[in-house]
Amino acid sequence: MSPSGLPGIDYALNPYGGCEHGCVYCYAPEVLHTDWKEWRVVKVRSNIPDRLSKELSGLEGTIGIGTVTDPYQYAEKRFGLTRKCLEILKERDFRIHLHTKSDLIIRDLDLLASMRGEAGITITTIDERISKITEPGAPLPERRLEALRRLVEAGIDAYALVGPVLDHLEGNEKEFADAVASTGVRRICIDSLNLRPQLSERLNRMNIRGSEKAKEKIRRTAEDSGLVVMDVF
Ligand code: SF4
Repeated sequence: MSPSGLPGIDYALNPYGGCEHGCVYCYAPEVLHTDWKEWRVVKVRSNIPDRLSKELSGLEGTIGIGTVTDPYQYAEKRFGLTRKCLEILKERDFRIHLHTKSDLIIRDLDLLASMRGEAGITITTIDERISKITEPGAPLPERRLEALRRLVEAGIDAYALVGPVLDHLEGNEKEFADAVASTGVRRICIDSLNLRPQLSERLNRMNIRGSEKAKEKIRRTAEDSGLVVMDVF
């Protein structure tokens, strides 16, 4: 684990390196000075449960799981590292903050429901066609909305991360915000597009932009539905 500068998270835990979801707006490769195509090659940190057991001694605080890459990308189905880490953290009663873009999270409802902390799922569109373009390797939106419902039903402190808000949401803000609210989450985090040089080039080529207008409209609609809306940072 590494110390984390993220608000409310003391240590960051990422069982995988790289990410299969291939989101066109992902800025992680640029932050980590990695080529974007290379970023989709997953590194499986198979010794992470052993390392975690050792490194937890004497620590306290909240462990952020999936601060850089998705802990429930498809590799997790095969390798189960996130689940093994959760089992260790549960045994030692650590508080967690887990974030994903995958409905594979519901496989671990049993563990999550008995742990302290919160779990979030990113949703950026309810349009399957847009999702297949912008997040080609990730589960489709309806599966993520259903996963949010299941988290809420299981009594887990769940939130939706709406971001980055892209311009395809313009004109569909209410339908989108209503779909998120229908899952039963009580709060959403909302985020703007975080542009970096290579990312700007890629999105310009694809004619995709961020939209502050849609972001503010979603914020107002969600607040009118009684949701608490927070900015990501
Ligand atoms: S899920 Fe997150 S880390 Fe993975 S490609 Fe998408 S934005 Fe990047």
